[in-house]
Amino acid sequence: MTAQREPGFRQSVDLMFNRAAALLKLSPGLEEKIRVCNSTYTVRFGVRLRGRIETFTGYRSVHSEHLEPVKGGIRYALSVDQDEVEALAALMTYKCALVEVPYGGAKGGLCLDPRQWEEHELEQITRRFAFELIKRDLINPAQNVPAPDMGTSEREMAWIADQYARIHTTDINARACVTGKPLNSGGIQGRVEATGRGVQFALREFFRHPDDVARAGLGGGIEGKRIIIQGLGNVGYHAAKFLSEEDGARIVGISERDGAIASEAGLNVEEVKAHLARKGGVKDFPGATFRPDSARLLEEDCDILIPAAMEGVINLDNAARIRAPLILEAANGPITAGADEVLRQMGKVIIPDLYANAGGVTVSYFEWVKNLSHIRFGRIQRRQEEAQHELLVRELERLSADKGLGWTLAPDFKERYLRGAGELELVRSGLDDTMRGAYQSMREVWHGREGVTDLRLAAYIVSVQRVAASYRAKGL
Ligand code: NAD
Repeated sequence: MTAQREPGFRQSVDLMFNRAAALLKLSPGLEEKIRVCNSTYTVRFGVRLRGRIETFTGYRSVHSEHLEPVKGGIRYALSVDQDEVEALAALMTYKCALVEVPYGGAKGGLCLDPRQWEEHELEQITRRFAFELIKRDLINPAQNVPAPDMGTSEREMAWIADQYARIHTTDINARACVTGKPLNSGGIQGRVEATGRGVQFALREFFRHPDDVARAGLGGGIEGKRIIIQGLGNVGYHAAKFLSEEDGARIVGISERDGAIASEAGLNVEEVKAHLARKGGVKDFPGATFRPDSARLLEEDCDILIPAAMEGVINLDNAARIRAPLILEAANGPITAGADEVLRQMGKVIIPDLYANAGGVTVSYFEWVKNLSHIRFGRIQRRQEEAQHELLVRELERLSADKGLGWTLAPDFKERYLRGAGELELVRSGLDDTMRGAYQSMREVWHGREGVTDLRLAAYIVSVQRVAASYRAKGL
């Protein structure tokens, strides 16, 4: 995918880190300590499938243990290798620091194409991989907590949680060993949508600042903006759905593995998703033009480009042809370090991955806290909150009647005011707060610090400073 003359993914992340480190005065050796990946465990294991033993290669990489547990998804893809998991683990360190989620960074992966295996086979493979990691404490509620990533979902997380519970039968916190679980296995409402929801909250926050919007040569709000999205998986689908259905954006192009579809009138995300599930691709989606070369769609005219599939898709080969003035990195590492430089010189504004897709880890953190506290958010206070609100509404109505004021509260106000927040509302509110707070911290550096030309550099400065402070506090 990436041009030959470009560095690999991990080096690309390191180059981005180096830009920030050059502006920070870290003590000698600390810069190197933060940059390097602490450890990567490689496991090759066999599973008896289809009458023979299949050998699989998996990884769990820990980038930084300045805070524990370390956190990061498990990816199932043929592209998985040591370089990739180490790059993704490093991104997790910086991401968690940026959104103030108290974790170190990690990542895992299994080199396989999940579409080539039946569900029961994937369960066998996942349980065996999980066993290999659990017995080395590379899955552990206090030390190392995975989550879903490309090619994995709630289903795999439930298998991992169950595998852990089978081994640690008396660990009362067993469920906190992994996040992104289904609700019936200790998951939390709003986790499946969390990364896409975070993308929406990130864009909303960006558009609250006309100065920042103007830097991208845009104006107004999200409504009516023309968006192109690459990858309609968990992250891409939810981001496209929320931005079009709730914020009035127009999704004018979607690319998938088999090609890309475009429609100036706007694509209905639910319908495209249903078509994708039925046909295995976007080809023949009614009312849209189709092109088999899916990568070309990235170069089409639009207001906001959202790569939400995989790394390295905007590289030195195509960077100069990107037309979108604003790019939001929903995937991890979609823009290589070389392409980043080209795009900056072209005056593009990039909302970087470590901020833009942090919604997933943020809600994973809420799930982990829920598992450790053994109670659903809102369970204790919800009805009490409703009773308090009802008292106030009744009193207002009584006053109005007594004084003959004739006040009436609008029925929808009453309904919304009286309803106490349940788990989903609390999760979304916590996520929104996190995304707003992290944007503010990046923005202060972007606008206020000499030599900071872009949001990515600002994001790295904020997070590297925080990681450095943790190491200093530990006496390192
Ligand atoms: P996913 O497997 O659910 O979806 C990926 C989608 O991209 C699939 O629909 C796939 O068919 C499509 N795709 C693959 N190659 C493509 C190509 N060349 N062109 C167009 N489409 C292509 O994965 P996901 O969980 O949505 O993750 C996507 C990205 O977001 C990854 O970089 C991942 O690391 C990142 N991310 C995911 C989460 C999460 O919570 N799932 C959190 C943070 C970051």
